[in-house]
Amino acid sequence: MTSHQPTGSTGPSGPTGTVVPAASTGTRLDPWYGSYSARTHGMRASEIRALFAVANRPEVVSLAGGMPNIADLPMGRFADTVADLLRTRGTRALQYGSGQGEPELRTQITEVMALEQINAHPDDVVVTTGSQQALDLVARIFLDPGDVVVAEAPSYVGALGVFRAYEADVVHTPMDADGLVPEALDELLTRLAAQGRRAKLLYTVPNFHNPGGVTLSLERRPRVVEVARRHGVLILEDNPYGLLGFDGDPLPALASFAPDDVVYLGSFSKTFAPGYRLGWALAPHAVREKLVLASESAILCPSVAAQLTVSAYLTQFDWRAQVKEYRLMYAERRDAMVGALAEHLPTCSWTTPEGGFYVWLRLPDGLDSREMLPRAVTSLVAYVPGTAFYADGQGSTHLRLSYCYPTPERIVEGVRRLAGVVNAEADL
Ligand code: PMP
Repeated sequence: MTSHQPTGSTGPSGPTGTVVPAASTGTRLDPWYGSYSARTHGMRASEIRALFAVANRPEVVSLAGGMPNIADLPMGRFADTVADLLRTRGTRALQYGSGQGEPELRTQITEVMALEQINAHPDDVVVTTGSQQALDLVARIFLDPGDVVVAEAPSYVGALGVFRAYEADVVHTPMDADGLVPEALDELLTRLAAQGRRAKLLYTVPNFHNPGGVTLSLERRPRVVEVARRHGVLILEDNPYGLLGFDGDPLPALASFAPDDVVYLGSFSKTFAPGYRLGWALAPHAVREKLVLASESAILCPSVAAQLTVSAYLTQFDWRAQVKEYRLMYAERRDAMVGALAEHLPTCSWTTPEGGFYVWLRLPDGLDSREMLPRAVTSLVAYVPGTAFYADGQGSTHLRLSYCYPTPERIVEGVRRLAGVVNAEADL
């Protein structure tokens, strides 16, 4: 076996027996510094992660994280289902499985997607370890360093992290109260093409946007698809919240308009629970094959135990009723948050989401959400500064508030504390 030494520390013996000196690229704290790929040097800890340590203290009202509230799941009955699965199909559940995912779960996933008018075949579904892994796989098969990804302004922080890891160049396109603006997208793609830069992906969260809180209107959906198609840009439709609308039926997915032009990502994290880490990608046939190859090289196969467990949950429980309960709970929390904002923060403006987890708040002129954060944490309330959701440093005028996890009473208290901080800053 060959020995393995960091380039940045005193190295192994050279061919003549001399010791190779420490490379100048190493640091005292991390002697391996000079060995990382360029890609790795571009990785940064998300602002959310840095926050979790403080925000998790019980005295802090965290309006920062996006953890779903799963306290009301029927755990006792579910435990029986899991035990029964292991007793009856344990050797399958605990074995390796298909790289693409277990066929019965893929069939059930097509039934879930039918609620958004997607008519898919189980063969075109790839099960992933959360939709976060699906984001990674899509980036891995499409992006070379310097490739352009168009993403909404603002965008999901976890997707920006993936695009950065693959050294893509993220260019933001505006949203308004009806979501992504098709005309602005068209102009941006035309401008990029004139510069000789073809965007490879359009990354969009059409429903109950994270962090924007807005939803792409029904009327705009076919127009967004048309613009992307005309410019030859594949749409990456990331839709973990689509079934969590507070009123009315789910809107048809972009994938329902143009299955050949869209990679659609779904997740069980918010409609069931995130702990099993199950999501999926629905992709045009050739893309799907590449996704499976990429996933096999990354993880061999998603957890069979997790897949069979979620499959049993979907069969044996009234999961639609559970989703409805989630919707009612989150709607009550949304009401608590926007009610408290109206009462305590009239100097700010914000989006009023019709589903999902997030409010996007604009601070009064002159305030900076990142600079204000330490003061907020001292006042025992946490949020995510808007800068986390842009690839280009914008966002300091905004912040994201999540209402998914704290109780309505804690949400109101958190907003009251936030108002104290904002008002004190504004008076400075
Ligand atoms: N996309 C968006 C927009 C999200 O908000 C999240 C979770 N916060 C994910 C993807 C990843 O979800 P998961 O990996 O749990 O499916």
